[in-house]
Amino acid sequence: MRKLLATSLLPYAKLRNAWRPGLRILMYHRVAQLAAYDQLTVSPSRFAQQMQELAQHQVVSLEDGLRALQAGPLRKPLIAVTFDDGYLDNLTEALPVLQRYSIPATIFVTTQFCDQALSHPRYSSQNAQRLHLDWDEVAALARAPGITIGSHTLTHPYLPTISDTLAQQEIAASRTVIATHLKRPVDYFCYPSGDLSARELLLVQQAGYAAAVSVAPGVNDQRADRFQLKRTEITDRDDASQFRLKLAGAFDPIHQLLHARRTRRFAQKHLKPSSSFEATTL
Ligand SMILES: [Zn+2]
Repeated sequence: MRKLLATSLLPYAKLRNAWRPGLRILMYHRVAQLAAYDQLTVSPSRFAQQMQELAQHQVVSLEDGLRALQAGPLRKPLIAVTFDDGYLDNLTEALPVLQRYSIPATIFVTTQFCDQALSHPRYSSQNAQRLHLDWDEVAALARAPGITIGSHTLTHPYLPTISDTLAQQEIAASRTVIATHLKRPVDYFCYPSGDLSARELLLVQQAGYAAAVSVAPGVNDQRADRFQLKRTEITDRDDASQFRLKLAGAFDPIHQLLHARRTRRFAQKHLKPSSSFEATTL
């Protein structure tokens, strides 16, 4: 149903891309073969298929994409690839495919996942195999051509729900911890679950990051706020035709409606009306 709707929206999406090309940032999490469908996991064969398709487009690092946006109107659409949470399969499954097609990517790691002190709660019952990259593996990825490491906090909290002090630590200290391990600056931040308020926007800028990504769907043009960059979620259900529709932006209006509903629900559930900050993505 959604695919049918997206197909009907394709001509408008193509017009938009021609009129005002933007930077589309793809959001991945895991690349693994799981027994059942998982929204955050793309199978290795599907991922290879998607990267083969992506190689037909102009794929850039986050840094180059943002620099191009800053320099002036884009002449053609650009695409960047990101991975959240720092899963071990990003090294074992995704990296060889990215390298095969010379596709750059940014991987956002949660420092205590890399310490192996915590793991993503979604997969906590699947403990047969180690889930997250350790620091040696993060360093190996950081040395790979085209790979950038960004921060995804210390513990992966819902940032808008924690105290000012803790939020500041999650954002600023994670940058320092990663930079210390990798001996290089960390320029990009990713909000856990994409949840942010005006406070987080300020804290990310104060911590010295150059840009940050959210989970709000859509494409980023020159008017984009570089501290809440939009991303396009890719799943295992994105076969060749659906992947192309997503790259073209034909799903954006549908995903924007769904995202607005989710953001509203999150605010109702977690944010008190008396709170000193407001959910900016409402
Ligand atoms: Zn995450």
